[in-house]
Amino acid sequence: MNKFKYKLQSFMMGRYGIDEFYHFLLIAYTVLLLLNCFIHSASISIALWIILGYTLFRILSKNISARQKENAKYLIFKNKAIKKFKRTRERFRDKDHVYRKCPHCKATLRFPRKKGKHDAVCPKCRKNLKVRIIF
Ligand SMILES: [Zn+2]
Repeated sequence: MNKFKYKLQSFMMGRYGIDEFYHFLLIAYTVLLLLNCFIHSASISIALWIILGYTLFRILSKNISARQKENAKYLIFKNKAIKKFKRTRERFRDKDHVYRKCPHCKATLRFPRKKGKHDAVCPKCRKNLKVRIIF
């Protein structure tokens, strides 16, 4: 067993190994695999093979800087998605305010939840806008 472990270690020497993007690919693979148990789609099967091949390629790759760049891009994407999810959840839980976008500068504005039509001034671009709150 030790001999196998030693051989594996020497084989992986200088190769990239696993990172957070690997975990994401593994989860995506598992989800698609479970989905394909019910759907039996050929395109999902092809996607599974592509994900598997890409994952193995990344683990065994010796171009470490390129793999680190991929992982960094994934982490940026992941953090943006988490931030957006948290913001959406916070807005959904906030029952005292409504959120609207300014038609001029696209800034997100928060208004107290009072029914009716209101005139407001965007604090970012200083333009007037009409806000209609139904419920
Ligand atoms: Zn504005």
